[in-house]
Amino acid sequence: MNNQAWIDLIRDIPDFPTPGVVFKDITPLIGSPGGFAAVVHDLATKVPADIDVVVGMEARGFIFGAPVALSLGTGFVPVRKPGKLPGEVITTEYELEYGTNSLSVHRDAIPDGSRVLIVDDVLATGGTIAATARLIKELGATLVAVAVVLELDFLKGRQFLSEQGIEDVIALT
Ligand code: IMP
Repeated sequence: MNNQAWIDLIRDIPDFPTPGVVFKDITPLIGSPGGFAAVVHDLATKVPADIDVVVGMEARGFIFGAPVALSLGTGFVPVRKPGKLPGEVITTEYELEYGTNSLSVHRDAIPDGSRVLIVDDVLATGGTIAATARLIKELGATLVAVAVVLELDFLKGRQFLSEQGIEDVIALT
């Protein structure tokens, strides 16, 4: 599948999860053998070459992050919701529209000084990526770039990330 034809496999679901929200559903994309391979290929070929570790966030960041890590020849580190990781973790909180959320990573997951790529499906407000970036920094690693399949421009996540010092954001669409 060429020329980002896989974009047509992302569908809009109106009023999900709440009225007024148009949810970008990537399940038809990952369910298509050609589409899934093409989007992973496009992600892996657009990121910097010198990555040591790919980090992906629960849950859709796992779907894209793991195959990108395989393609780059790196390991994959999961960032998870609280209470899911069995070892010693570090945790950070971030603001949602209503309330807060938390993300955790194993304290020994990323060697000091590693060059890290974050992969997720969607950049919306940027809160999830900014929180993940804080965890990476706390572990003594360097965030080199962020790669997402889709950016929701109107939520200005790129601007928010830039305010946090995160400039290298690659969005396929
Ligand atoms: P943010 O923290 O506001 O940037 O939201 C990004 C996170 O929410 C990502 O991990 C996405 O998986 C999820 N997300 C937000 N909007 C959508 C959507 O329209 N489709 C799929 N996932 C979404």
